[in-house]
Amino acid sequence: MSRATILTVVGARPQFIKAAAVSRAIRATDDFSEILVHTGQHFDQMMSDVFFEELDIPKPDENLAIHGGSHGAMTGQMLEGIERCLLRHKPDWVLVYGDTNSTLAGALAAAKLHIPIVHVEAGLRSFNRRMPEEINRVLTDHVSTLLLSPTTVGIDNLAAEGVTKGVHHVGDVMYDAMLHAQKRSRDSSTILADLCLTDGGYALATVHRAENTDDPVRLQSVMNTIAEAAQDRPVVLPIHPRTRQAVERQKTRLRSIRIIDPVGYIDMVRLLDGASLVLTDSGGLQKEAYFARRPCVTLRDETEWTETIDHGWNRLWTAPDWKPRSEIVDYGTGQAAEAVLGCIRGHRG
Ligand code: UDP
Repeated sequence: MSRATILTVVGARPQFIKAAAVSRAIRATDDFSEILVHTGQHFDQMMSDVFFEELDIPKPDENLAIHGGSHGAMTGQMLEGIERCLLRHKPDWVLVYGDTNSTLAGALAAAKLHIPIVHVEAGLRSFNRRMPEEINRVLTDHVSTLLLSPTTVGIDNLAAEGVTKGVHHVGDVMYDAMLHAQKRSRDSSTILADLCLTDGGYALATVHRAENTDDPVRLQSVMNTIAEAAQDRPVVLPIHPRTRQAVERQKTRLRSIRIIDPVGYIDMVRLLDGASLVLTDSGGLQKEAYFARRPCVTLRDETEWTETIDHGWNRLWTAPDWKPRSEIVDYGTGQAAEAVLGCIRGHRG
């Protein structure tokens, strides 16, 4: 039997983590092979290389080294580079994750060449079209062949846009990734000792969304909210390069927040595990806080992960309190990557 070739496009940190889970599942089968294309959107040791090394992701077959510039310039260059890769490798499927410029460029390049697209993390919506991520999600969903959603809310969102064909609820591949990393993280990470933190004795924060970093007043307000949580415990904030630049440029006051460089995934899972509270504008971290059963405050005015709010594990920073807590079943049992491959196998064109 000949193997179907999946060409996977990744470019940003959360995509490396999602790809680690799916790529591992692909390598465990004998009916698929994978070509990995890295657009270069995130490119340095701590935003890219560390994830490939720690999570055993194969070295990319192609690295387009495209980063920086405006959204249009970046997406345009990616479109051109990915198209070249598609013509060279002639895959049976193109697989894209999430909502970055790399996602949209991969989907658009494939759609124009009539290559079927699998969108993992389909159907998520913030309903805020000023977010670049929202534009990327909506457009990617509307050219995808298989729309694989981590949540039932995602399925409903797609139905509301008239999209029902090729839509499946598969669970969350980030949960697969976290389960895989958890034991290793507890056994091997020394980050708590390195930072003189104790289990349950600190809060963990991250900030990277353009809507928070690009407006000086807003960024100051976000940092003030984080610093308030630090009144009764230390707060550690692994800082995203975009946020570091904004803080320096805008002279944001950080008060007692402890800033560290971005960390690898194994250390991040350990930091999550030991935290008593998570404050974040990250999509991934909101769910990971739930996976670790830690309460989360989302530093945004809306979220795509509404089940985390409804089940009492997450609240928007504008909300006074958490709702009563209950378990979330949507994210699955850590078998979402296998479910992705099952949907591709089962697809009849
Ligand atoms: N992450 C990490 N190191 C860090 C910060 C985040 O490994 O210093 C991980 C985090 O645990 C999650 C992913 O990166 O799995 C989230 O990425 P990000 O917040 O950049 O993107 P988003 O999820 O908002 O798309």
